Amino acid sequence: MLAMHFMVNKKIMKLHNLKHPEQKVNFKQAVIEGIGKDRGLFFIDNFKPMSNIDELLEMDFVTRSSCIIHHLIEGELPFKKVNEMVKAAFNFDIPVVKVENNVACLELFHGQTLAFKDFGARFMAQCIAAFNDKNHVTILTATSGDTGAAVAHAFYNIDGIKVKILYPKGKISNLQEKLFCTLGKNIETYAIEGDFDDCQRMVKAAFDSDEIRQKHNLTSANSINISRLLAQVCYYFEIASQCKDKELVVSVPSGNFGNLTAGVIAKTIGAPIKRFVAATNSNDTVPRFLINKVWQPNKTVETASNAMDVSDPSNWPRIMALFNDNLEDLKSVITASIKTDEQTFQAMRQLQQLNYIAEPHTAIAYAGLVDTLKDGEYGVFVSTAHPAKFIETVEEVLSIKLPVPEALEKVRNLQNLSVTMTNDTGKFNQMLLE
Ligand SMILES: *Cc1c(COP(=O)(O)O)cnc(C)c1O
Repeated sequence: MLAMHFMVNKKIMKLHNLKHPEQKVNFKQAVIEGIGKDRGLFFIDNFKPMSNIDELLEMDFVTRSSCIIHHLIEGELPFKKVNEMVKAAFNFDIPVVKVENNVACLELFHGQTLAFKDFGARFMAQCIAAFNDKNHVTILTATSGDTGAAVAHAFYNIDGIKVKILYPKGKISNLQEKLFCTLGKNIETYAIEGDFDDCQRMVKAAFDSDEIRQKHNLTSANSINISRLLAQVCYYFEIASQCKDKELVVSVPSGNFGNLTAGVIAKTIGAPIKRFVAATNSNDTVPRFLINKVWQPNKTVETASNAMDVSDPSNWPRIMALFNDNLEDLKSVITASIKTDEQTFQAMRQLQQLNYIAEPHTAIAYAGLVDTLKDGEYGVFVSTAHPAKFIETVEEVLSIKLPVPEALEKVRNLQNLSVTMTNDTGKFNQMLLE
């Protein structure tokens, strides 16, 4: 009976391509294909509210998250399977830490690579493993740092999946490199003599070759994969569960706006959150859009919060879709804030006064939150990275010495297993064919 039910449900197309609405897919296809025709994003057709919110908020994180994801994929996988996947993916703590009377911090950095990307990457790995009906697939991806680590750890030791990660040699921090280039087993890392754009070009060229694609069953572990967003929806409910009966305002440090998209999905399906702050650094395309209604990305500028140095955030169309492209509705739920590096450092010092040590991305969320918080509201700023991930900046700005967390200490003296290669596309493709 269960098997029959599963087969019928698999045929239901519940997602569409935002650029080409006629392209309909189910969750499995959206996960495996990653991106639609014309590089359009896959998104769920309509988000149905959950009915049992009070009950949901009483559950433990893993059970509740399983219910949320099962609801969002409308039973495309049986509950038991979703529950196993969630349990394997979310195997770390997610505390809400009180910082002031009416302000707390949601710490999303207790995973293997000390950044919130672990949530999305680990759940995506579970999805790809669950939907993979070939004997073996290869994830090929380029990284400028953090995503590589999250992806490598997420897929580490998963049967039937090989991971090849390209990164620019000498252009990421030593500790960052050690975090994902020392794993071995099914994780292969390539230090490319070139920059990040070279790495991306090489990955693209490999995908362009039918021969290579077929030989390796190539898949990308793209940051716009829908499975990542679903994973991230879950921790917004955790805020509501740990801070009950409050007028919640949640501030999200934003770059590519996946994190905020997940927050708005959570609210749409019933998480009791009053409103959001979209907190950016000087890459302020979204805040300017909310004021001028014109989408006008500037040249990307480098900041101390480099994971948010994105001037043309690819998830924005998904947020617009959640408000049926109605900008006034959107502005009643999302306000924006822009912080320069100097203001970011100021916020880090302010937090230090409150006995809370934060790295730059987190501090931007805090600064954006306290700017707008009104009487009676309770503010939660989202912390996306452990302070030790940005140790140089934190130590310099706050004049302190940070202890190195265990996850980093463990890898510090391991051997780097990366293979060094030139940025020659032909040579790389040839190697993939041997
Ligand atoms: C990726 C990242 C962000 C930005 O998240 P988006 O979902 O791209 O908006 C913020 N902080 C850190 C530390 C990140 O790694």
